[in-house]
Amino acid sequence: MKLIKLQDLYFKPFISEKEIKATVKYLAATVKADLPKDEIPIFVGILNGCFLFAADFIREFKGNCEVSFVKLASYQGTSSTEKVKQLVGINEDLTNRTVIILEDIIDTGATLQEIYDIFRDKNVKQLKVATLFFKPDVFRKELPIDYIGKSIADKFIVGYGLDYNGLGRNYPSIYQLSTTPKMKNIVLFGPPGAGKGTQAEFLKNMYNLVHISTGDVFRFNIKNATELGILAKKYMDEGDLVPDEVTIKMLKAEVEKNKDANGFIFDGFPRTESQAKALDTFLAEKGEQINGMIALEVPEDALVTRLLERGKTSGRTDDTDEAKIRNRFNEYNTKTAILKDYFDAQDKYYGINGVGSIEEITQRIANVFDTL
Ligand code: AMP
Repeated sequence: MKLIKLQDLYFKPFISEKEIKATVKYLAATVKADLPKDEIPIFVGILNGCFLFAADFIREFKGNCEVSFVKLASYQGTSSTEKVKQLVGINEDLTNRTVIILEDIIDTGATLQEIYDIFRDKNVKQLKVATLFFKPDVFRKELPIDYIGKSIADKFIVGYGLDYNGLGRNYPSIYQLSTTPKMKNIVLFGPPGAGKGTQAEFLKNMYNLVHISTGDVFRFNIKNATELGILAKKYMDEGDLVPDEVTIKMLKAEVEKNKDANGFIFDGFPRTESQAKALDTFLAEKGEQINGMIALEVPEDALVTRLLERGKTSGRTDDTDEAKIRNRFNEYNTKTAILKDYFDAQDKYYGINGVGSIEEITQRIANVFDTL
């Protein structure tokens, strides 16, 4: 899940698709359990917000039922201050029926009040209300709400049918209003030896960012023989990727160490799609996001030569053996290169020609960075 932007506002992940599904299922089962055995209820969804909830709810409802939708339309009454509301769309005869209102969210209860008022003279057998979300802190009425999926704090939410200015209804999960992102975060990307570390040093100083190189963090841990280092070493020595779980946990810890950063340069991370998704979710929960992936593009043969050259002085065991280097390229091409598509799909991929002098390449990166 990522941070989303709807018109001028940002929203961050709040309730997952999985949790919504479980909540809807629970509501449907609870409603069913309360009904007399052969009772056929009529569910009445209050449009527009409830359309996804109603669709999922009735699929989870195990038993016969009828479904209808209504809309509360307001129009000006005879005096200019008088607001009259009317339910539009109820054509069924509800006499002696069990009516169960389906609401996506109840906050102040104003709409609920209208519904109770309107149904009062329909001669129904019973009227019940099931709402997916409820905001106890702002609810102002004395009306019964029979079924509540989840009580939430008074935050503005969108997704799963709920909107902000008409937008956001189509997201399968729920997001809450967030502040405008403060950080500028980039992923510096490219095959081994493309010059990511060198460029990161320049960018870090130019833009006052925190540089996190997962490779460096692993090497630091190996040098200090930490538990993490011992674990990572056997993968790194072969040029294999360290397992995602280990790497993601470590990355998060590095970010947490720098709470006040202006932003981060992620170097060597993410390397797999699951790392990319984890990073998106992690940043989104903080109201932040990746602004772009800046990728250094350099032909592979030039890189092997560069790496063997580096291995003579860097002390990196994975730089001294051509087979291991080729394996790192193989990892890059099979597992990592797909990240180009991942960021491309979000319009966040920026390819940079990585052949040239260090200064030239820094300038090319800076030109892109300034537009992010
Ligand atoms: P690097 O310094 O970025 O070339 O990384 C050196 C080695 O560290 C890689 O070959 C991997 O074994 C390990 N490594 C660094 N970053 C990651 C990552 N994001 N995921 C998995 N392994 C990593």
